Amino acid sequence: MHRPAAAALLVLLGGGAAGAAPSASDEAANKLAHEIFRQLIEINTTDSVGNVTTAAEAMQRRFRDGGFAAADLAVLGPNERKKNLVVRLHGTGKHRPVLLIGHLDVVEARREDWSTDPFKLVEQDGYFYGRGTQDMKDGDAIMASALLRLQREGYKPARDIILALTADEEGGCCNGVAWLLKNQRALVDAEFVVNHDDLTLVSEHGVPQEFKLTATEKLYADYQLTVTNKGGHSSQPRPDNAIYELAAALTRVAQFQFPFELNNVTRAYFEQLAAGGGPRAANMRALLRDPPDAQALAQLAADPSFNAIMRTTCVATRLEGGHANNALPQRAQAIVNCRILPGHSQEDLRQQLLGVLHDPQITVRYVADDGKVSDKAPERRALPPPPILPQVLEPLKSVVGAMWPKLPVIPSMSAGASDGIYTSALGMPTYCIMGVAVDRDDDREHGRDERVGVAAFYTGNEFFYRFLKALTVQ
Ligand SMILES: [Zn+2]
Repeated sequence: MHRPAAAALLVLLGGGAAGAAPSASDEAANKLAHEIFRQLIEINTTDSVGNVTTAAEAMQRRFRDGGFAAADLAVLGPNERKKNLVVRLHGTGKHRPVLLIGHLDVVEARREDWSTDPFKLVEQDGYFYGRGTQDMKDGDAIMASALLRLQREGYKPARDIILALTADEEGGCCNGVAWLLKNQRALVDAEFVVNHDDLTLVSEHGVPQEFKLTATEKLYADYQLTVTNKGGHSSQPRPDNAIYELAAALTRVAQFQFPFELNNVTRAYFEQLAAGGGPRAANMRALLRDPPDAQALAQLAADPSFNAIMRTTCVATRLEGGHANNALPQRAQAIVNCRILPGHSQEDLRQQLLGVLHDPQITVRYVADDGKVSDKAPERRALPPPPILPQVLEPLKSVVGAMWPKLPVIPSMSAGASDGIYTSALGMPTYCIMGVAVDRDDDREHGRDERVGVAAFYTGNEFFYRFLKALTVQ
């Protein structure tokens, strides 16, 4: 594909230089994105008490009011609470469609854990606070506003742009992407997929450092650890105790480190970061040696975001045990959540965990996404990375170059898991691309006081609009 020079691209897209005063059209675009963002944050879409359909229908109304034909707006899904929205902006048909995916559901959030109401969009100290501000109602709002903006302009892309806003990425019965692929494949079929569900623009103190093109991801797996005991009266404690046994085994998990391992994507990632210089470059070069330098590895691994792409990780995330205050526990149970490097299976990991726990009293069972527990885990492995398509990489480099001169675009692996696993599995190369800058140490996805920078949100909104246009202009 022809790659327009950055300057030409700016003219082509009608954008101003970075840092210039916002034009009236920028202000209108910001206002629209903010309105949608607020609306989505304030619709509770948790699995427990929320309703994804409400959010899907609210977006459907916006698209209808924005001039989309009813036939290009489908709200559908397996049950009343888990419906997905699929929108199509028709192109000239020169190329096969691009599918944009974003999940509408969010992780649970308790009011008492938060400084603000997680289901209100609160603007404070230069940040928007609320559940889903990073993961990923910011992205849903940005993708929806980009499509509405393009429709209003009468823009005719060279390929259809399909947007799917979906249910249950974070868990629950009814993953929307999986459901659409299984039941409505034609509606979402595309040459490739752009997902907004990863923090790909990494900043430090608000200054962007790298733009990641996430081309592969780790595999998610939950394991249930159980210790049972005959129990008894708590006035006569014995050395055998389900809670103590489980606690001791969990300490072994905490102290265990899975081996260091790089793949083509993570190797390229560290090579390119090292080439960019900076205080960590020497450690990164030492990491890339064979064998890697142990001290450099330890220093880099002290940063959880680096550690997560160097090795499989497992961490205890839930704990319960006992049945009465005055009884010896008959059962103690924990969930250990693992993020598995490409090439390893969920059952491999279960076997490894058994070794780490080193206690025959403890059973390790696999917990599927729908909550079903089984004695063995699937043999499913994380997929190898897809090729990085030039028709995606080149427009990305152009727009990044125009908005953040000299910022490197670096192929990377996500330590998290996304719905990309379903689209990739069907042969649609899937890339996570988003331009909302988040500080390396301010990843609050799934956590308390989740937030996103106000300026970062608006810049990310402008980025995605420009990128989508560059991606589909010819
Ligand atoms: Zn997410």
